[in-house]
Amino acid sequence: MNNIIIDFIVKYFYYVFLVFVLLNVLMARKKKYSRKKRFAVLYFSIFIFILYLYSYYLKDHNLGDVYLLFYFLLVIPAYIYFKKYLFPFQLRCEKCNKFLSFDLILFTDSTKCEVCEPSEKVEENKKEK
Ligand SMILES: [Zn+2]
Repeated sequence: MNNIIIDFIVKYFYYVFLVFVLLNVLMARKKKYSRKKRFAVLYFSIFIFILYLYSYYLKDHNLGDVYLLFYFLLVIPAYIYFKKYLFPFQLRCEKCNKFLSFDLILFTDSTKCEVCEPSEKVEENKKEK
């Protein structure tokens, strides 16, 4: 049986899971503005953890990489169907199509750049001071 992918997941994905949990904690610094994205990261880390447990189970029962397909056959349609909740990240502003800053992509729910939606940014600056 071919177990390359399973071995890789069992070996490293626990740490991948921890990285996403840490990212979630990091995102909490802008609680009010990143709620949607914080939950998306949380769901993603849960999916990673399930993948880790499933791989562990497969390894324990000496099953091959082929069985991982079942996981992806369930998860990928879920991601496409619930894209709004599971993957709200956007690289470009939805109004002017300009690339967004790293901060806006990761830590703010807004999908518009500072120019198209300045009010929120001003409000945020006021809060920080
Ligand atoms: Zn814009």
